[in-house]
Formats: sequence, structure tokens, C-alpha cells
Amino acid sequence: MAIAAGGVRLLVFCAAGTPDGAPHSIVARERKPAKAGWRAAAARLYTAAFPRGTSRVPEPSTRAMTERTFSIIKPDATARNLTGKINAVIEDAGLRIVAQRRIKMSRQQAEKFYEVHKERPFYGELVEYMTSGPVVVQVLEGDNAVAKYREVMGATNPAQAAEGTIRKLFAESIQNNSVHGSDSQDNAKLEIAQFFKDEDIAG
Ligand code: ADP
Ligand code: MG
Repeated sequence: MAIAAGGVRLLVFCAAGTPDGAPHSIVARERKPAKAGWRAAAARLYTAAFPRGTSRVPEPSTRAMTERTFSIIKPDATARNLTGKINAVIEDAGLRIVAQRRIKMSRQQAEKFYEVHKERPFYGELVEYMTSGPVVVQVLEGDNAVAKYREVMGATNPAQAAEGTIRKLFAESIQNNSVHGSDSQDNAKLEIAQFFKDEDIAG
């Protein structure tokens, strides 16, 4: 208690300054708080920060969730040497690139990756395109990373993508649209696992 009170006196001493040029020792003596005054001061601060009835921890619904999502910089973008420019947009949006590897996708990898689109008319061409040149596979981390990256990428068709999005800035067509991003947390986990081992990701 004596040590705590002494500490508070020292704090007041340091913070008070001497606007009128009086020696510090005098200021310190004159502003010496009443015994146990530090307890009241702390209580006042606490009440001001957390008024009665307010929650001390944000509600789960308003708390941002740190997540990971899977990203691919596609062949049209690597062909135009855009990896750095796309990464800059990703990082400027507050997402962290916690794993990254440049690969040439095999037909088997591309077919497995886009299996959900197997019945779509563009599936064959999509697999051809994804294996036509190098891609950069990535894991991105950040608050609400899945939804945030979808926003940063923009609409599938660049003609409908919002200003400032990666696809608006760089995509060539609905197929050659520069980037992939997971569409759900479950798919993000599956897609990350297809290309990265846990030890290759450094968050
Ligand atoms: P997103 O990549 O925005 O999640 P989809 O999952 O619907 O879009 O499609 C996967 C990929 O297939 C697209 O990113 C694009 O490269 C290609 N694609 C989608 N629609 C078409 C289309 N109508 N014609 C050609 N390619 C397409
Ligand atoms: Mg998709």
C-alpha cells in the first residue's frame, strides 16, 4: 500500500510539471493525493470506461473473426507479371499473405480443384486455362478473410466488378479473371489443404 501510494505520488510528480517554474519537489508535495486516493481515482476511471450495464467484452456477433482463405493468382495475371501488383491490393486491404508458392498446376490438380464446376459448360476450358501457365497459390489471413477477399477480388465477370477491385483493375474476361478466392470457410479449409501443409503456413 505504501509502495503503491508512493508510486502514484511519483506519477503525479512527473505528470504535473512546473508551469510556474516552482521546484518539482514543491509541486509534488502540494499535489500529494489524500491517503488511498488512488483507489478512488482508479474506481472513477473504471466506471468512466465501463458504465453500469455496458458489456466489458464485445458481443460475439460484433467481434471480428481472424480467418484464413485460399487464393490463386491465375495464369492470365502471372503471364502479365502482375503478382506484385495483386499482392499490393491484397495487403493494402489488410489481409496478410501467410503462405505463397508459384506452381504449374497439373491437369489432375485443376480437375480436382474445380470439381464443383464439372457439369458447367466451361469446365473443360477452365481446366485448360488453369494449366496453361504458372499460378501463385496463397493463404491469406485476416479479420473475416473469406468475405473480405471476395470483396477485394470483385465480381466473377470483370464487367460487373466494382471500382478498385482486383478483377476490375486487372481481369481480361469472365474466364481469365486473374484471381480465385474461396467462397466459404469450409471450402477455404479444403482448398488450403489441397496445396499447403500446416508447417508451410506462418501466420
Ligand atoms: P468465382 O471465381 O468468382 O468464385 P465461379 O466459382 O462461379 O466464380 O467460377 C469459377 C471460375 O470459372 C471463374 O473464376 C472463372 O475463371 C470461370 N468461369 C466462371 N463462369 C464462367 C463462364 N461463364 N465462362 C467461362 N468461364 C467462367
Ligand atoms: Mg468460386
